[in-house]
Amino acid sequence: MNYPGHIGGGVIAFSIIIALAIPARFGQPCSAVGMGMWLGITLFGALFPDIDVHSKGRKVWHRLLFCGALLMTYHRQYQLLAPLLLLTAAPYMLKHRGITHRWWFITSMPLAGAWYLGHAYPLWHNEIYLSSIFFTAGALSHLALDYGPRWLPMPKNIARLLSKLFS
Ligand SMILES: [Zn+2]
Repeated sequence: MNYPGHIGGGVIAFSIIIALAIPARFGQPCSAVGMGMWLGITLFGALFPDIDVHSKGRKVWHRLLFCGALLMTYHRQYQLLAPLLLLTAAPYMLKHRGITHRWWFITSMPLAGAWYLGHAYPLWHNEIYLSSIFFTAGALSHLALDYGPRWLPMPKNIARLLSKLFS
């Protein structure tokens, strides 16, 4: 699937999360800036799995890391530059449709990141966990579009039947 398709999948994933979240928030409106941010995070999640190949997702990933490196340098947080360097190089060591296209990685990685960042920045705890939910929704939409229902953890015969229905 090309990137406009994944952007479309991300918009659908975002709409589903918002539709599920609105009743939970008892109808409280969310700010336009907040909605724009959550949408951006979902779309980033939708493009993220393809960082393992030359793609829009990899470009976005590198631009975000570059901005992160600039911020860290400005704030003299030099110890954080080494992990950023590793994250910059990592996509070149992955095979296409490898680990970034596995449901267990795409769900556990944002949670682990949220756990770490939530401890480091407790004031932003809720926003960080919400971001991980939107990111995961976007990333799962990517897998759904790449594979159909085959990526879901289910018995092989059911997966085969579903992939016949969706192909
Ligand atoms: Zn992909």
